[in-house]
Amino acid sequence: MKRVNIDQLHSIGGERLKENDTFSFRCGPDLSCFGRCCRNLNLFLNPYDIVRLRKNLNIASSCFLDEYTDVVLRPSSHFPDVLLTMSDNDEKTCPFLSADGCAVYPDRPDTCRMFPIEYGVLYGEHDNDAENVYIFRPPEFCAGRREQTVWTPLSWAGDQEAEPYNRMTRRWGDVKRYFGNDPWGGRGPDGPKGKMAFMAAYNIDSFREFVFKSSFLNRYKVKHALLGSLERDDEILLEFAFQWILHVLWNVESRLFSLKNRRF
Ligand code: SF4
Ligand code: SF4
Repeated sequence: MKRVNIDQLHSIGGERLKENDTFSFRCGPDLSCFGRCCRNLNLFLNPYDIVRLRKNLNIASSCFLDEYTDVVLRPSSHFPDVLLTMSDNDEKTCPFLSADGCAVYPDRPDTCRMFPIEYGVLYGEHDNDAENVYIFRPPEFCAGRREQTVWTPLSWAGDQEAEPYNRMTRRWGDVKRYFGNDPWGGRGPDGPKGKMAFMAAYNIDSFREFVFKSSFLNRYKVKHALLGSLERDDEILLEFAFQWILHVLWNVESRLFSLKNRRF
């Protein structure tokens, strides 16, 4: 997902669509371009992408980060982004591209699901001003753009089972928008707070250990009914992590937890 700046929107190119506008597209192994779009990508991973990919690969989130990603700091944000590392071959293929297509297909990232639609959020001045943005922008080599199956951005998201991804990347966008400002007090994102926030966002297994095996529950009051869900459910834990980042760095109150010396 992109956080779209209104000034950039006109220069992005492609065709901006509303939720129920139509576009024609089909993808499949019978097309000559099959797999060509899975090469030499700047594929940014959102936190929920990592939750799903590490589960698909049956490895810990810390291993996934070590083996499959690069971390970058973009000029537009004070929070690091995570890029999927392409394979070290001539075509720089995605590490999950196999002869049969995507080897992690049920858990492929949001960007891959929504392709050829780019999904982003345009934020206004106020919290309630956020607007979904859909841009139809397949590359010229994509033969699917000349197929006749008709979709809307919403029906395409449904077909690709992208709703939970869109929901979680939107929530992450709501967090990332705070990082247009610098919260690090001169220490940068590599300081202790930065490392904790990065862990909460991208390293779900370590964050779960932090909640249940450190002094976290001595310091924070968490609603009892929520604790079991946090242990079992990655999506609920990730939303909890997002709220914790906002609380620690930006003092945003959460309805999920409070410091023990405060009341709910
Ligand atoms: S280039 Fe387009 S049609 Fe070809 S495999 Fe990729 S998404 Fe499908
Ligand atoms: S994750 Fe799958 S769909 Fe996405 S670029 Fe890699 S191989 Fe292609």
